[in-house]
Amino acid sequence: MSDIKEPVPERNDVLLVFPPAAILMLMPELGMPQISSWLKSRGWKSRVLDLNVKFLFDWIEKPEIEEMLKQRWSGRSETFKKTYPEYKFSRAYTVAQYDGQIGYAKSYSPVLNPENKTWHIDEIIANSLKPDPLFEKFYREFLAPEVAESGLIGFELMDHYQLPAVLYFSRRIKEDFPGKNIIIGGPWSTASQSAFSSWKKLFDFIDFACLYAGEEPVEGTLQFLKGEREKKDIPGVVWCENGIVRENEIRPLPDIKSAPAPDFTDLPLHLYPWKALPVRNSAGCPWGKCLFCYHCFPGNKYYEKDTARTAEEMKAVADANNFRKLSLADFSVSPQALLGIAKNLIRIKANVKWDALTRADMAYSDKFARVLAASGCRQLFVGLEIEDAEEIEKLNKGIKTSNFEKMLESCINNGISIGVFLLNYPGLSEEKLKTGLEYCRNLQKKSRGQMYLIVKDFELGRASNTIGHLDAFGIVLDKDVNMDVRSFSLPFKTTIPWKKLYD
Ligand code: SF4
Repeated sequence: MSDIKEPVPERNDVLLVFPPAAILMLMPELGMPQISSWLKSRGWKSRVLDLNVKFLFDWIEKPEIEEMLKQRWSGRSETFKKTYPEYKFSRAYTVAQYDGQIGYAKSYSPVLNPENKTWHIDEIIANSLKPDPLFEKFYREFLAPEVAESGLIGFELMDHYQLPAVLYFSRRIKEDFPGKNIIIGGPWSTASQSAFSSWKKLFDFIDFACLYAGEEPVEGTLQFLKGEREKKDIPGVVWCENGIVRENEIRPLPDIKSAPAPDFTDLPLHLYPWKALPVRNSAGCPWGKCLFCYHCFPGNKYYEKDTARTAEEMKAVADANNFRKLSLADFSVSPQALLGIAKNLIRIKANVKWDALTRADMAYSDKFARVLAASGCRQLFVGLEIEDAEEIEKLNKGIKTSNFEKMLESCINNGISIGVFLLNYPGLSEEKLKTGLEYCRNLQKKSRGQMYLIVKDFELGRASNTIGHLDAFGIVLDKDVNMDVRSFSLPFKTTIPWKKLYD
């Protein structure tokens, strides 16, 4: 039990916490600094806490914690030890390789989290009720003192790996600070929308789950706590009353054109391994139709800022935090918006370096790429997925390899490197995957080392476009799929022979 029992004056109306262990976050996450800034502009006292970066890139490197981790690992089952044979925790992540290409980061989250055989909600909840010396020590040192000084507690989840810590911490908060309200949000929460009605027990730990943009749900909850609103009138939240899970009306995103710039002042910027800060020009995807996509939620809506405003915001964020590198966190920035941002960055002499995700749906001219480069653009990421025209059509990707090749050439000639995603998905034959890899390797050779290839295995999202097109991938869902918390990587079987590249 925590020693913190006496009520203390609340310094913050809301504490927004990014919990461990979301392993892929190498720079700050954008959602909480954005929500916090919006809340502050409306008079609320808000604080942001990134416990993920603290946990992964600072705390677990301390000798006494490394010792605890070794003990944690040695208490695991033989199957677990075989699956995760390493217990070197001095690095929080490592990069998997496939055939010499970069895979995605191999996660130590399973080692940091309690051992579980499945991701069934009941098992995850049962684990969170057990004593956990590692989580307990972390909770007492870093979270409990902050909770004591805050009203509402919000956890943002990017993926299911953060759920064990959220449940453990929420249980402990409810024990130590009866009456504190807890709200969860973030992409994982939104992706879990259709499953919440099957997860009633989750609401023994939390009071609200927020769907889509967090600004109005958090403000509505703060107003509820002040007695100014009823629960049923808090927009965009799921909650449970008398054993019935209720979902309130979801309102459109607050106008991103007038939203204040994200506020990173609470974050320990020196801890992030990638020295860049995220900003955004848009919400949703301007295309939104790729059949495998799990980034866009159902009914994908696209909102865009004025590119002059985005450029000003980029400069303001860079100046305020003394960071010259920025990363556009949009799902996909259209070529037109890239050009608008670039021209405005040049006009205001922003002096920043930046990267973005975009689509190869246009043949970039040399002049186009020159403007991007002059504004500080240093890297673009594009999803090619596969080079075969028939497969591109099948995926509803809406691009042409000729445009991709022209874009690649123009960008590389102007000093902009290109990260290319290739996707291994059910239905793609080994032969076609091999041809796709060959095609990319040939382009890599011509790119003078300025093209990076990232090969990914397909994953099934609960709220993905794929859910409406399961037959196209021969996917058969597990019968217990609604009880599984892996909302971005649901278990499935496929009737089409398919080999994963990574386990
Ligand atoms: S995969 Fe990318 S381009 Fe395709 S719909 Fe999703 S976010 Fe948009």
